[in-house]
Amino acid sequence: MPGFSNADSGDIVSAIARRIVENRAYLSDIDGLIGDGDHGVNMAKGFSLAAERLRGEARPLSTSLATLGDVLMTEIGGSMGPLYGVMFSGFADALDGVEEIDAPAFERMLRSGLDEVQSIGDAKVGDKTLIDAFAPALQAFSAATAKGESFPVALDALIVAAEKGRDSTVDLVAKIGRAARLGERSRGVLDPGATSCAIILRTLAEGATAKLAGVP
Ligand code: ADP
Ligand code: MG
Repeated sequence: MPGFSNADSGDIVSAIARRIVENRAYLSDIDGLIGDGDHGVNMAKGFSLAAERLRGEARPLSTSLATLGDVLMTEIGGSMGPLYGVMFSGFADALDGVEEIDAPAFERMLRSGLDEVQSIGDAKVGDKTLIDAFAPALQAFSAATAKGESFPVALDALIVAAEKGRDSTVDLVAKIGRAARLGERSRGVLDPGATSCAIILRTLAEGATAKLAGVP
């Protein structure tokens, strides 16, 4: 199955950082409704710091993801530093030594990141967290490839499922994290982490699609 080159794809991480920084105010506004309003600020700080470190030369996707994971883990407060820190480190570990990223390698990457987040955060689908975007996205990607769909078609399915999962958080009551303190009052708004996670997954999938199409 055709894939894209790990060595030439570190710029996908810079694109993710750009999208997060662009959504700084939006993500903090959402967090202000059921949390403490710092989600966009925390995220933009971490992702722009990582982008700064990655500026200049072209790098592999795996090492760029590792740098992002390290920066989030060590420099960012809130729940998101460690959660997204281990997610990106999990992505990086799964791609270590991989030259050509095909659909199975991409799926292993996603699974490794999801496992890491769940191993430290213990959230399940329905708890109103980023897992509500991430878990169905991975499931949709796996289901598409298992059905024999092409890598780009599976990436499209991933984006659609991530955004549907994000939207599902509106009707949920938070079971975990800061918003859980609100109980029923957490219902009726998007979860900020699920929103940022859908942005990350969309940008990652679009980046992979562009690489597969030969966009430099
Ligand atoms: P804080 O809650 O410390 O202010 P942020 O505002 O940066 O941190 O992030 C809040 C987001 O963190 C929530 O919207 C939720 O998606 C996510 N989150 C919190 N706890 C967990 C967890 N245990 N597992 C997965 N995601 C979580
Ligand atoms: Mg917050």
